[in-house]
Amino acid sequence: MLLSLIVPCYNEREALPRFYEACSAVLKKMDCPYELLLVDDGSTDGTLDLMKTLAEKDSRVTYLALSRNFGKEAAMYAGFCNAKGDYVAVMDADMQDPPELLPVMLEKLQSGAYDCAAARRVTRAGEPKIRSLFARLFYKLVNRMSDTEIVDGARDFRLMKRDMVDAIVAMSEYNRFSKGLFGWVGFRTCWVPYENVERVAGRSKWSFWGLTKYAVDGVVSFSQTPLRFVSLFGFIMTAVAFIMLAFVIIRKLIFGDPVAGWASTMSVIIFVSGIQLFCLGIIGQYLAKTYLETKRRPHFIISESNSPDVTKIK
Ligand code: UDP
Ligand code: MG
Repeated sequence: MLLSLIVPCYNEREALPRFYEACSAVLKKMDCPYELLLVDDGSTDGTLDLMKTLAEKDSRVTYLALSRNFGKEAAMYAGFCNAKGDYVAVMDADMQDPPELLPVMLEKLQSGAYDCAAARRVTRAGEPKIRSLFARLFYKLVNRMSDTEIVDGARDFRLMKRDMVDAIVAMSEYNRFSKGLFGWVGFRTCWVPYENVERVAGRSKWSFWGLTKYAVDGVVSFSQTPLRFVSLFGFIMTAVAFIMLAFVIIRKLIFGDPVAGWASTMSVIIFVSGIQLFCLGIIGQYLAKTYLETKRRPHFIISESNSPDVTKIK
């Protein structure tokens, strides 16, 4: 029985050594053969050199270097495609995913009652307040709109059985929103709660704008509700316009035509054009996703690795 640990790393030179020490300590205690798959997501701070040093002194370390920064989702996918384990885990390099949870997760899976054990933050202590607020709002919204459950506080940190990993690899869509994909494939998931931990070193790669884009991806990938909302809105606007038209015609016939109300007319026109642009924007989001999917571009390109039999492009 082999355990694969996938670690996406983007500019994690400072955090990676600490992660490696802490994680190895836990894994050795677990007394189970493992491989550490370090995925370098086009780092520019020498993370790859560090990985090479680690791989030299520890034969359980495999590094996969992507040819540029593809984003965490692609880095994880590269890991999934190349993991050989019967059990596969994903972990961040910044120690925000406590390695001590690994034995707990493994125990859950080995009990046979679950196919997947996933970590879930029950607090968001130490995170900027505004980010927590928007995160909560996002989860409320996306769960209202989508049939796939996306659990609040769920992290990408989880341990899965081979069957589930194969299912994830088979989901070859280009726009990947892992939190949704994990939910979509199903299987029996056990949630392991823990308190939020702040990253040990380096900076979070998420800007506010980056998170906003990620949130829009999450909604657009797993819900058609915005499109339904657009159609409904269009229908209501048409109905209202029709009633207004009837009203104006009748008023003209009865009272003649007093020229007034230029300002109100203008505001209605501007309001309606605003709504139209907004709706077009929503439709555009879906169209853009479709456009990218139809190109069938690879998810990642591996330029370098110490393992001879890696899937280099997929
Ligand atoms: N990451 C990555 N590629 C990216 C951005 C991030 O592989 O383009 C990795 C990063 O190195 C870390 C994990 O994804 O191991 C989570 O990133 P981060 O800590 O910045 O996110 P947060 O914990 O703030 O959500
Ligand atoms: Mg982090």
